[in-house]
Amino acid sequence: MNFIKGSQYTRNDIWKSYHPDSGEKPKGGNWDTGYVVEGDDLIAFLNIDSAGRTGHDFANAYDSEKEEVTWFGKPNTHSSQPTFKKIINKELKLHFFARWNSKNTKFIYLGVGQLISFEDGFPIPDDKHTIKLTLSLSSANQTIGIEGVVDSGVDKTPSFAKKIPMLVNRYERDPNKRIQCIERYGYKCQICNFSFSDTYGELGNEFCHVHHIEPLGEVGGELNIDPVKDLIPVCANCHAMLHRKSPALKPDELKTLLKKN
Ligand SMILES: [Zn+2]
Ligand SMILES: [Zn+2]
Repeated sequence: MNFIKGSQYTRNDIWKSYHPDSGEKPKGGNWDTGYVVEGDDLIAFLNIDSAGRTGHDFANAYDSEKEEVTWFGKPNTHSSQPTFKKIINKELKLHFFARWNSKNTKFIYLGVGQLISFEDGFPIPDDKHTIKLTLSLSSANQTIGIEGVVDSGVDKTPSFAKKIPMLVNRYERDPNKRIQCIERYGYKCQICNFSFSDTYGELGNEFCHVHHIEPLGEVGGELNIDPVKDLIPVCANCHAMLHRKSPALKPDELKTLLKKN
């Protein structure tokens, strides 16, 4: 199954992609718990920094810099149980969905997890134990709408124009902050008004880059990042132009340049 990294899905949306002809998701089954297996796929639903409705979330965590997830099994699970054996033997494709507020019915798709390590017997409340897994969600060509390189413009040798990776702040990769920013502004570029979906149709649905306006040092740390004031949805062109200068241009500066030309 293919999901789009950084996009939001309800449990029902995901269920429907596995059961296209079966109407609504049944209530109270595995689909309402922390994870469910469908054929060779495992779909994990993570509550991060908030207690889940079933109370079975311990300290699930997502590190947006490393693109790593820390994920706990249900109580009393361990590596010799069939599902976890399959995970460790890499027989299941692990799809990670997360939400940062357990009241939100939508989860953000984080991507496919590759197991880095696991630990049995992790103590959890009520004298129980469970398995703790660490997984990587990064892969070379899967980023949250910010892939791409820009021409450095420094070395203009015609035959091999030099390419450098776009400098992307880690807060532009944090799926939670990113979604909060998009919920406020939508997917249109806030500098030139470009809409990927208007131009590319369905392919461009729910796509944009998200730019972090102030360098982190000036905002005062991760916890102070305000997704409405500090982040801004932009198109790929405007994003590249913002980062053509270092430190990056301010959005208003680029808007002014855009009007002049
Ligand atoms: Zn733009
Ligand atoms: Zn940026």
